[in-house]
Formats: sequence, structure tokens, C-alpha cells
Amino acid sequence: MDSLWDYPDFDAHELVHFVTDRKSGLKAIVAVHSRHLGPAAGGTRFWHYEKAGEAIADVLRLSRGMSFKNAMAGLPLGGGKAVILADEARTKTPEMLAAYGKAIEGLCGAYVTAEDVGISVADLVEVAKHTRYISGLPVASGRAGGDPGPFTSYGVFLGVKAAVKRKLGKDSLSGLHIAIQGAGSVASGLARQAAAEGARLTIADVDRAKAEALARETGGATIDPGAIMTIEADVLSPCALGAILTPESIAALNVPIVAGGANNQLATQAEGDRVRDRNILYAPDYVINAGGIINVGMEYAGEGDEAQVRARIEQIPGRLETIWDESEASGRNAADVADDMARKLIGRG
Ligand code: NAD
Repeated sequence: MDSLWDYPDFDAHELVHFVTDRKSGLKAIVAVHSRHLGPAAGGTRFWHYEKAGEAIADVLRLSRGMSFKNAMAGLPLGGGKAVILADEARTKTPEMLAAYGKAIEGLCGAYVTAEDVGISVADLVEVAKHTRYISGLPVASGRAGGDPGPFTSYGVFLGVKAAVKRKLGKDSLSGLHIAIQGAGSVASGLARQAAAEGARLTIADVDRAKAEALARETGGATIDPGAIMTIEADVLSPCALGAILTPESIAALNVPIVAGGANNQLATQAEGDRVRDRNILYAPDYVINAGGIINVGMEYAGEGDEAQVRARIEQIPGRLETIWDESEASGRNAADVADDMARKLIGRG
């Protein structure tokens, strides 16, 4: 590699900040992809990486994803992300979170953090003792903010309905079969709303007890996690892992629609064409799953109540329609169309 600037996934990040605090053992990387639209916002991931290079690739990809997500959600926020490099035992101490908060404060608002995998609301409360540049904290009932999961679910539910309307010409999920990968926070909110509208659900989670509990609650069925990607259904909603759409899995899909909340569903950008070539309608992940960041972003701006957050989330189907219209008109796949729109919004078109 000629220089750090040629690092795969670097994509002209404005700032990459490496943090070491020897006393607490904190090692973190903060990546700021773009501040074109405002302070760079995105959560902190607490994760054990085998190699530091994996952490760099992860934070850069996630950070760029946040630039695109925040721009497409119409938020006055740029995109950034941070990772804390956990040891194998995933040791997390108040001292480490304090050192992390001070490091964020030292960036003077260039980056605004929130929760992500491995960071809870309680952890954020610790971090918030040392920085103002934070969101996703407990809020008074009815105010914007707090746990983003239910808001993400609401946006995904509306996005699934928009896809069903477009592809199957139906106004309701009643009687339709929705296959959901995952039974966690986003999946369970989606399952409850879809079941309330009369959808038939099949749910898979590697944690079988979780899948069974959600199926019991929503009158659905469970299936082996290995079988969810090939099940015949009206919609496949990936709400667990990223990179589940590979050349092999796409070839085996048995659904007309893929619309779900998981981040980074396409294993590589080339998979966008493969999904289109199978005539499957795809909802670009960072557009359909923006409900949580809309909630957290409005909390940071000190704006609004829950009703206003929901009203903004209700704009997600319209954005998806615009993407699908453009995709149909140009023949380009929906993921590429969304990326181009996002790049233009952040001044990099
Ligand atoms: P979660 O941890 O609550 O749930 C994820 C679930 O997926 C877990 O129950 C886990 O056991 C299950 N899982 C893991 N591997 C699996 C596999 N191979 N097959 C089936 N199930 C598997 O997480 P979440 O908050 O619901 O997030 C789900 C996805 O949505 C993630 O990709 C996340 O990045 C994305 N997302 C979440 C939010 C949010 O607000 N929580 C916002 C945007 C995007």
C-alpha cells in the first residue's frame, strides 16, 4: 500500500483518530467520514477484533455508512463511528468509559456518539459524565430519544409495507408470509407490527429460545437459522447480521422482496446487481433502518417529541419509492442508486 490514504475503505475520511489510555487500557478508533451536513454522528461499537486492521476496516465502513444513512434520513448530521477494541474477555470498566468520554470531548463536537453493538444505555450514561457530544441517553417519556430499537422497527415495518405495495400491489400485510432473520430488538418490533396486521411469520434466530418466544407471542412459526435464507415467502426481512446477501445466498432466495433492518446486508457492492437480476425488490438497508438514528438525532438536536420522530420516520417509504423509481428508470440496482443519492447529499456526487 502506498499510503494510509490508499487504505481500502478509507474513502476520503475527514478524520481518523486513534485513542490510547494506558491507565484504563482503553484503545479506540474514532472515524469521521463527513461533516458536510453537520457534526459526524454514529454509535460506538465495543468489540473484540483479532487484528487491529479489522477494527480499522470496520470503523471506516461503518462511518461511511453513517454519512449515507444520516444524509438520506434528512438529518443535519454528518457521519462517523467509533470502535473500542475490547480484549478477549471483553473487559469494560468505568475508568475505560471515562477515558473514552474524555477523548470524545477532546474532539470538540466533530463526532457525536451513541450506542452500538456492545454499548448499552448504562454505558453511555458513564461516558456522558465526561462529554457533551453524546446521544441515545435515557429521556423523559414522550420526548425524542432513548432506545433506538423500536423506532428502527417502525421504519422497517413501513418500508416492508411500501415494498409489498410496489411489488405485490397490496395495501396490507394481511395473509402475507414474512420470513424474519433474527429475533432481537429490531426483529421483534417488526414481528409484532406485522402480526398485528395479519401477516404470517416465520422466525429464525441462532438463539432458538428467543425465536420461539417471539413466535409464540406473534402466532408465528420458527425455522432453523440455516433455512431462513431459502424459505419461500413474500418477504425476507434480514434483521440480524450483515453480509448475508452473497452470490450463493442470492441465487437460492425464494422471495420477491428483501427488506429488513440489518446493516450492510450486501456482502459486496456487486451483490446489488445480482439481487436486481433475480427481479427481487431490495430496500437499501441504511434507508429502511434509519428510524433509530432519526430518533437519536432529534434527541441530540434537542428537538421534538415522539410524535415528531414518528412523523419523520414515516418519510422512509417515500425515500424508498424515489430510489425504486430511479432504479426502474435507469436499470441500475437500488443499492447503487441510494449510494449515488447519498454521495450527492454529502457533496461528493
Ligand atoms: P439484537 O442484538 O437485539 O438482535 C440480533 C439478533 O440476531 C440476536 O437475537 C442474535 O441471536 C441474532 N442472530 C445472530 N446471528 C444470527 C444468524 N446467523 N441467524 C439468525 N439470527 C442471528 O440486535 P438489533 O438491535 O435487533 O439489530 C439487528 C440488526 O439491525 C443489526 O444488523 C443492527 O446493526 C441493525 N440495526 C439496528 C438498529 C437499532 O436501532 N437497534 C438500527 C439500525 C440497524
